[in-house]
Amino acid sequence: MPHRRFTIIAVAVVLIVLVAWLGHSTNREVEAIVQQQLGEQQLLLARQSAAGIESFLEEKTVLIEVLAADATDTSPEGMAQSFIPIYYRSRGFFAIQFVNSTGVVVSGYPAEDTPVGFDLYKANKNQAFDRARDRRETYITDPTPLFEGGLGSYAWVPVYDDDEFKGVILAVIRISTLSRQFLADAIPEGHGYMYMIDHSGYSLYDGAHEEMIGKKYIGSFCANNSSYAEILREQIQKRGGTDYYFDEITGERQIVAYTPVVWRDRVWSVATSVPASEAETLIRSVYHKQMLFIAIVITIILAGSSGIVLIFSRWNKELEDEVERKTEDLQRSNMELEAANTRLLELDRLKSEFVSMVSHELKTPLTSIKTSADVLKSLSGSKKDDRTEKEMLAIIDRNIERQRRLVNDLLDVSRIETGNLKLSLEPVDLYDIIRESVESRRTRPEGMGVPLHVESMRTIAEEIGIPIHLDLQGESPTITGDRDRLVQVFVNLIGNALKFTKEGEIRICARTVDGHPEIRVSDTGIGIPPEELNRIFDKFHQVDSGLTREVGGTGLGLAICKGIIEGHGGSIRAESEVGKGSTFVILL
Ligand code: ADP
Repeated sequence: MPHRRFTIIAVAVVLIVLVAWLGHSTNREVEAIVQQQLGEQQLLLARQSAAGIESFLEEKTVLIEVLAADATDTSPEGMAQSFIPIYYRSRGFFAIQFVNSTGVVVSGYPAEDTPVGFDLYKANKNQAFDRARDRRETYITDPTPLFEGGLGSYAWVPVYDDDEFKGVILAVIRISTLSRQFLADAIPEGHGYMYMIDHSGYSLYDGAHEEMIGKKYIGSFCANNSSYAEILREQIQKRGGTDYYFDEITGERQIVAYTPVVWRDRVWSVATSVPASEAETLIRSVYHKQMLFIAIVITIILAGSSGIVLIFSRWNKELEDEVERKTEDLQRSNMELEAANTRLLELDRLKSEFVSMVSHELKTPLTSIKTSADVLKSLSGSKKDDRTEKEMLAIIDRNIERQRRLVNDLLDVSRIETGNLKLSLEPVDLYDIIRESVESRRTRPEGMGVPLHVESMRTIAEEIGIPIHLDLQGESPTITGDRDRLVQVFVNLIGNALKFTKEGEIRICARTVDGHPEIRVSDTGIGIPPEELNRIFDKFHQVDSGLTREVGGTGLGLAICKGIIEGHGGSIRAESEVGKGSTFVILL
């Protein structure tokens, strides 16, 4: 089980690491995608602004071109008059001026923004003037500072009356008008800014660095910033795209998206500059959500794996318990089987013993009877010999008595074992029964001389010089019992005591203990070894000793005694010390 638990924990750890790694790599991918998306979004914004500026400038230019083409009254006053509706209808012109064929401003609208009499040709504008006149097409000049401040952009539109050159309409457009309308508010405050440069890198507008307007970036503002200089070079070369540079002033990485603005032959460039942290803000929100997701996944993995561990542990415990129970059952049935086997072996042994004993015990008297009968037969023809005849008849009688006893004992044992021992219960005087067992005359017990001789146990005892003492204490208790069977028990015990005692005495004590009669039959005989004390009550069991063999017997007496006493609801046991004597204790 511990190694299974370890495996599950290891799998959980691997899963967690995998999820964390996946989360991390996904995060990096998301970061790249978000930055790319932000760049593309900025580029789109720059293109929108550029498109707005382009159409604004184009519209103004076309309006002036139409005006120039349709001009009928080319007098200074006539031209100034024709400017008024355009000026008001199409807002965005700073001023519209008419320059005569020699390059001098002659009229315009609004009059206050028109430097009438100013010789543009001489004031360094001859190139633009000549280009418009000679090519007969609109010419755009680079933005320059206006007298009033700020930058202005100029469209030079030539006016011809057929082939006669009348002069040039000079449309002045304020750059600040353009930037206000298309650049200033395109990016919300605090999230970046826009800027616009002309084709030579002059700043036309800068949402973050107003002081730069009219100046060149390269060589001043970004002198040491090679990556920004690179972006500016790209812009000057009329390219569009997205790039990064590190802003040393703010200490932030900037994303720049730039796109060209085409106005006839002039090309400017509009750009957005946004801190890369804008993308990081977005990523962080994604990252937080991802962390939460990973945390939830890890929790689920941990909860799931601990759940699996728990289920496995429980299954395992149940399995172990089941196995333990089954093992215990098996051990129990094994023990029962072993016990049954021992009992069977014992029974088998007893059966063999029984067969050999019974055949021996039956054969011996039969042989004697047969021999005696043969002798009698041989005597029948010859002269009668009364003495021999009597002797032979006595032998036959004795042996028949022996067999009768054996058969009776066997029948008793069989009745006891099958529960068929019938007791004729009646109130009996116990001490009377004990006295009767000692005193009444009866055929001698087995092993106590000729069985046919009728003697009391006391007489037999006196014969062999072993006195029997009776110690019957108190009033004789009256019990319910089978008189003859109880006498049979005591005669048997006294008979055994006499058989196994060579010297000393036999004592029969009776008293009442805790309201129950207790009888002790003691002798000073050979005694019984401790391991035999219980077994002597088994049928056919005899202690293996020389004396036992000498006195003979069947080993049935004590088994019958036990059966009778237990049939009376009592108990019998033996106490003994080898060489000192034995005591049989009966509790009724
Ligand atoms: P049996 O006397 O016919 O052999 P029992 O059942 O009466 O059969 O006795 C069984 C055995 O118990 C005897 O053979 C003997 O070995 C032992 N035993 C019985 N009583 C005594 C006793 N008083 N002293 C010593 N051994 C005894």
